[in-house]
Amino acid sequence: MIPVTKPYLPDREKLNKYLDGIYERQWLTNNGPLVQELTRRLEEYLRVDNLLLVSNGTLALQIAYRALGIADSNRYSTPEAITTPFTFIATASSLKWEGVQPVFADIDPESWCLNPVEIEAAITPNTRAIVPVHVFGNACDVEAIDSIAARHSLKVVYDASHAFGVRFKQQSLLSYGDAATLSFHATKLFHTIEGGAIVFKHKEDLERAKKLINFGITGPERIEELGINAKMNEFQAAMGLCLLDEIEANLHARAAVKARYDECLPSSLQRQKRHAEASVNHAYMPVVFESETQALAVKKRLSEFGITARRYFYPSLDQVNLGISSEKSMCVSRDIASRILCLPVYAELSELDQKSIVNMILNGLGL
Ligand SMILES: *Cc1c(COP(=O)(O)O)cnc(C)c1O
Repeated sequence: MIPVTKPYLPDREKLNKYLDGIYERQWLTNNGPLVQELTRRLEEYLRVDNLLLVSNGTLALQIAYRALGIADSNRYSTPEAITTPFTFIATASSLKWEGVQPVFADIDPESWCLNPVEIEAAITPNTRAIVPVHVFGNACDVEAIDSIAARHSLKVVYDASHAFGVRFKQQSLLSYGDAATLSFHATKLFHTIEGGAIVFKHKEDLERAKKLINFGITGPERIEELGINAKMNEFQAAMGLCLLDEIEANLHARAAVKARYDECLPSSLQRQKRHAEASVNHAYMPVVFESETQALAVKKRLSEFGITARRYFYPSLDQVNLGISSEKSMCVSRDIASRILCLPVYAELSELDQKSIVNMILNGLGL
């Protein structure tokens, strides 16, 4: 069996040392020392300020909407946020869950990120925010998006779940927007089993979010505002600290896997056009086939040999019936979603296994 991704597991002895510390201190959660240490180390590694660790990437989005006032329903109309239909369901469902109506704008056919022209066309008097996704770690047109937001006084929350460590023009991609969120789910490039983080532009938003993730409690007998539980615990942080030590080896191995795919797969398979100013983190290996029939034939061929390729992201979210489907058809997103497959990428993927994957793809293509 070759899965589409495999969680990276750290050196067991190193993990045990962290666990020994947790047993000694018996401090398991509520902003413990390992959570504090991981916060510092991630700020340093990612070169950002105002980073807040949370229990998962979905709550990272929800807390960001709340901290920035996007989700406040103190008006008569439902607040709206413009987002992409070509993403994991959590980007849109987290908005809906917070009482914000996701309004889809279509993606660019080459970068597969939100098309700024479509964003501007989707703005209504109820629009409060733009929630773009750096899909597969590819930087959105952050400069165009931030300028649209400034012109229309909108907040921007980047779902950067795929963009761990990506740099843009010499700084962190996470420094764009009012906030950027990360997912540290086990399947992601860097993980804490379950987990996530928010990087805020402004310190006061971070301070508000710190209250929100701990029930709004600010002192032993003081509850200041409506909050929820979104805290990361010490075991999650221990995993993160171990993996951060090994991140270079992980990135290196993935880069080699990606390079081999690029060398062996035919150029007739469409690749994502990367933003020229952004670095690459090798998190995913998406390829777009000429037709849906061809993509499905290859997927079937691979699965006959125990190899999983996933239809990320299918269906296009404007076709999902959760009160988020849109009247306007997102043609580009639907088209890419119908023809895309993500191929297996993980640090341990052997050259031999990768050869079989490539052979099965060529076979499925009739080459
Ligand atoms: C993984 C992911 C999320 C959700 O993160 P969890 O940590 O699983 O809650 C949100 N958005 C995108 C784009 C993702 O890939």
